[in-house]
Amino acid sequence: MSLIEALVAAFALYFITGFLNNVLREEVQVNKRVHKLSSLVSALIIFGIILGVRLLLGSISHFYIGVEYYLFRYLTNDFFLFAIMTTLFLRLHPKFLKKFSKNRLPDDENNIQSEHFRRLYKKFVIITWIIGGIFLSSSLLQIPLESGDKFYLGFIWAMLFIGFAIIITQVINKTRPIEKRIPKFVLKQAMYTGGLISFGIWAIQLIIVELYISRYIFKDLFLLDIYILYEQDIRILIVAVISLYAIFYYIFLKRVFMPRALERSELKIQKAFEVYDKKQSEEIRSVGNNVILNVQDLTTYFYTEEGIVKAVEGVSFKIQEGETLGLVGETGCGKSVTALSILQVVRPPGKIEKGKIIFRGEDLLQRSISGILEYRGKDITMIFQDPLNSLNPVFKIGTQITETYLLHMENELLVEATKQDKSIFAVAREWGEQLLHDLNIPFPELIFDQYPHELSGGMRQRVQIAMGLACSPKLLIADEPTTALDVTIQNQILKLMKELKSKFNTSILFITHDLGIISKMCDRVAVMYSGFIVENGDIKKIFIKPYHPYTRGLIGSVPIVGKKRRRLEVIKGMVPNLIYPPSGCRFHPRCNYCFEPCDSKVPKSIEVEPDYFVACHLYDAEYKELAEISIKKVGE
Ligand code: SF4
Repeated sequence: MSLIEALVAAFALYFITGFLNNVLREEVQVNKRVHKLSSLVSALIIFGIILGVRLLLGSISHFYIGVEYYLFRYLTNDFFLFAIMTTLFLRLHPKFLKKFSKNRLPDDENNIQSEHFRRLYKKFVIITWIIGGIFLSSSLLQIPLESGDKFYLGFIWAMLFIGFAIIITQVINKTRPIEKRIPKFVLKQAMYTGGLISFGIWAIQLIIVELYISRYIFKDLFLLDIYILYEQDIRILIVAVISLYAIFYYIFLKRVFMPRALERSELKIQKAFEVYDKKQSEEIRSVGNNVILNVQDLTTYFYTEEGIVKAVEGVSFKIQEGETLGLVGETGCGKSVTALSILQVVRPPGKIEKGKIIFRGEDLLQRSISGILEYRGKDITMIFQDPLNSLNPVFKIGTQITETYLLHMENELLVEATKQDKSIFAVAREWGEQLLHDLNIPFPELIFDQYPHELSGGMRQRVQIAMGLACSPKLLIADEPTTALDVTIQNQILKLMKELKSKFNTSILFITHDLGIISKMCDRVAVMYSGFIVENGDIKKIFIKPYHPYTRGLIGSVPIVGKKRRRLEVIKGMVPNLIYPPSGCRFHPRCNYCFEPCDSKVPKSIEVEPDYFVACHLYDAEYKELAEISIKKVGE
């Protein structure tokens, strides 16, 4: 084994171990990143050891030609050294696995996962030792190969045909109706086990017959001309290898992996019932006037080449169970970034700098990536402004809706499927169609099999709402859901959302710049300006007596039917550039009331009435006298 061969063997070892880990069921797979790292380091160390040993043995056999030293030359046999490499890996890999997986998983979880990999890997080590042993013995007995090319081609052809058979198996499974398909991990296990065993049998008999039997026994006896068979007639190879694969695939699928999967799914159903019952009782207990979302001091910046865009600056608000909070403000004031931060889908160069997003008592910013995926799309969902961009154009409507159920409501689906004696896919379809029906979509069973481009804008938006409501979320974030729609459809959608809210007791964060929609939909309003919440309170109070000059400007600029005005009122000036925001109160360059501390001090949030907050120096007791002078001036 030379430098190149040792390197190839080390990488082969790395890829084979990755493959073995992939064959395992997802729940017992070793974390892929940790596995890759520890395999790579172990393989490289082993490469160094083997190369050193190889050089040592090579030089000994080179200098000492005596018979007793031939052994050193035989020990450098490639297959034998590879078997040693696989055994060394067995010792090294767990050590690095432990080192790299630190703080990623609890210890016992790690152990369970690495144990499954270890068990499978040991089988691979046994195979390498059998092959290594055979080659070592042929080397010791000094048996040369008569036709090396054909011999090695035999392995390559066998590998290719087994690969081909595996692809065909997968294609056949994919063409079956979804409820009749063999589960992915069961299929993988059966395919790869069948493939490995058939290749193993082919390889071992090829070695034994080619090296020993054909030349010493059958060739002389003329009883059966196996040697001619071993000229590697490709037709025999195809039939033999594929038949072996089919036999072992079928045996392992039916006798081993399917029964095991059934056993596991029974346990899963049992667990699903327990979780379902527990959840039901918890939900009954938690119904009440609780705060469902408490956002505290949320700050999100975008680090662009031009500078730091301070999009959300210390935003705080609360949403009660079953309540609709409107988030209103001009375009570019940070409403959507606030929503994206709650779901933690702010893309780089954006970054959530600080704050807390406390959802049902837990800070979501402290969750791991898998923890975030658990609540995103299930407990908190979002409806976007443009459904055509947020629906996937290559999947049917039904596939996209059922995916939500399959990802987030597996337990509920299992319970229902067991009760109705149906497959979970059939139940998911039923639920999806019912949801579309609830959203007044005509012929849901037909819409289910259509693609997004086949529907009108209003229908697409309803489908998106259906996806948002599929898991009965606790909080729905609607980011300008009706902006792209005409007024009639807008009204229908708003009515629908109201009905669904009362049906599912869902809290809604409704983002819009349309005060008319806010007045129809919301219980409370938070007014945002340039990354800050400047006013937050009861809907009626805000419309009757707005406090903040910006809110007054917003309400004043809404045209009222029947009220004559010479000119439409506007807020003077432009929304500031968030890379270079104004100092102090960000509204001060546009504010008529601007006075002494406004351009230097950021106003704090003041509770002007119970549960009603305004961030303006006009209501700060500290600047009472200066504020009165400013109000008088504007009045004049
Ligand atoms: S803090 Fe000053 S500038 Fe800002 S809104 Fe109030 S009065 Fe206007």
